[in-house]
Amino acid sequence: MLIGDPVEHSFSPLMQNAAFQFRSINSVYLTVQVKSEGLEDAIKGIKSMGIRGLNVTIPHKVSIMKYLDEIDSTAKNIGAVNTVINKDGKLIGYNTDGAGALEALKIGNGDPTGKKVVLLGAGGAARAISFSIAPFARRLVVLNRTRSKAISIMEAIKKRLNIKIVGDKLTINTLSKELVDTELLINTTSVGMFPKIDETLVGGHLLKPKMVVFDIIYNPPETRLLREATASGAKTLNGINMLVNQGALSFKLWSGLKPPINVMLGAINSRLREG
Ligand code: NAP
Repeated sequence: MLIGDPVEHSFSPLMQNAAFQFRSINSVYLTVQVKSEGLEDAIKGIKSMGIRGLNVTIPHKVSIMKYLDEIDSTAKNIGAVNTVINKDGKLIGYNTDGAGALEALKIGNGDPTGKKVVLLGAGGAARAISFSIAPFARRLVVLNRTRSKAISIMEAIKKRLNIKIVGDKLTINTLSKELVDTELLINTTSVGMFPKIDETLVGGHLLKPKMVVFDIIYNPPETRLLREATASGAKTLNGINMLVNQGALSFKLWSGLKPPINVMLGAINSRLREG
C-alpha cells in the first residue's frame, strides 16, 4: 500500500498491481490517505494486520522514521524513507528514490560519472538523488529557492563523502554562472508539473547541446524544460524511468522477486497516454 496525503493521484498502484499480476503474486496494492496526526496509529495497524510492505509519500517520508524498528543505512543518510518492509512483525525502512534515479540516468545515457552536475531543488527527492549521484559526480552544485535547504544537503553529504559539492540559492545569477560548464542538469523541483505545465526555472538560452537534462517530473512526460532542452540540442530524460525504477526496487524488497520492469513501464505509459 501507499500511505500519504494526498495519495489519489499516485501512479504506483497501476505499476505495482501490474507487477503482482504478472508474477502471480496474490497481493493487492492500495492507496490509503493518512493524515499526519494518524500516522502512529496507521503504523500500529500495519503491524497488527500483518501488511507485508508499503510505500510512503509526502508528508510522512521523514516523520515515519521514528516509528520503524530498523532503517537501512542509505535511508538513514538521506534522512527519509519511501519503502517499508514488514519482516515478521519488524518494520524496516528503505529509500529507493536515489537508486531509482541513478538507474534511470544510467539506462538513459545520462550517467553522472565524472560530470559536473547541477541539481535544482532541495526537497525530499533532491536529497535522495544528491546522495546517490554524489559519489560519482566530478562536482555537484545544489541550487534551491530556499538556500538553507541546499546548504543542509551540502553539509550532510560533506560529512560522509569527500567530494566537491556546493549548495546555494537558486537565482538567475547562480544558475547562469553554474550552467556554463554543466554536463548534467537535474530538475527535482515541482516547477513545470501538471497543471502548471508552462512554468520553468531555466531560460532556454542557458541550455546547451552538450548537456543532458533530466527532469524528474513524469506528468507531463515532456515538461517545458525538456521541450526547450530538446530545442537547444541537449539530450533529455523525463521522470518516468525513475518512477518505474524506484517502484521496481520497492517491489524487489517486498517480494524478493525480479521486478517485471517492462510490465510496470507499460502500465505507466498507457495511463499517461490516456491523459
Ligand atoms: P518537496 O520535498 O516538496 O520539494 C519541492 C522542491 O521544489 C523544493 O526544493 C522547493 O523549493 C521547490 N519548489 C517548489 N516550487 C518552487 C518554485 N515555484 N520555485 C522554485 N522552487 C520551487 O517535493 P519532492 O518530493 O522532492 O518532489 C519534487 C518533484 O519531484 C515533484 O514534482 C514530484 O512529483 C517529483 N518526483 C518524481 C519522482 C519520480 O519517481 N520521477 C519521485 C519523487 C518526486 P523550496 O525548498 O524553496 O520550497
